[in-house]
Amino acid sequence: MVGAGSGTEKLKAWTARDAGLVGCRHCTRVSPIGTETCPRCGGGLTSRDPTSLQRVWAWAVVGLLFYIPANLYPMLITSTLGRPQEATIVGGVIELAQYGAWGVAAIVFFASVMIPVGKFIAIGYLAWIVRKPHGHSPKQLLHLFEVVEWIGRWSMIDVFVVAILVALVQFDLLATINPGIAAVCFALSVVFTMLSALSFDSRALWDQIETLADE
Ligand SMILES: [Zn+2]
Repeated sequence: MVGAGSGTEKLKAWTARDAGLVGCRHCTRVSPIGTETCPRCGGGLTSRDPTSLQRVWAWAVVGLLFYIPANLYPMLITSTLGRPQEATIVGGVIELAQYGAWGVAAIVFFASVMIPVGKFIAIGYLAWIVRKPHGHSPKQLLHLFEVVEWIGRWSMIDVFVVAILVALVQFDLLATINPGIAAVCFALSVVFTMLSALSFDSRALWDQIETLADE
């Protein structure tokens, strides 16, 4: 991975492409550049995915478009003795805090506001910096990319958290609970941001890097 030269001297990252090789994204086997299918697993080989960034931005924008109604419309419609009550995500968090359930309020806020917003920012940031030369440390970039991939799987905990929210807030046994339109929008937003992260060709992160100094 390290090219000619060493120490803190600034130099370009030595990638497989520079070495005339292409790595398989399915099984990691390396083949000479220009090979179209992987000899080990038969997967398609491309040195860089030229449409990667377009798909990243497209899915991220769609995800963001669904995240807005997820916050504006009710997440839950609870009905106590025929009296319907609607709660948005943030409304639910405030209600929980008023009931003194600070821990659950914090979890709901973290899962449904901090994680999705953080993910939009992280994806946008990564997609932005790969286009131009940058001096970010490889380790930091890799960690950021891993975080983006990792949190996607946990975003759906919000749906379960909402169920806990209902159980805590609702003392009344005659209550009925229905998910609001926001729950559907939120789930779609999570799916689309996951697709956005999956579209990201992480190899592009190393192409424009200007330093290998990691310390
Ligand atoms: Zn392969």
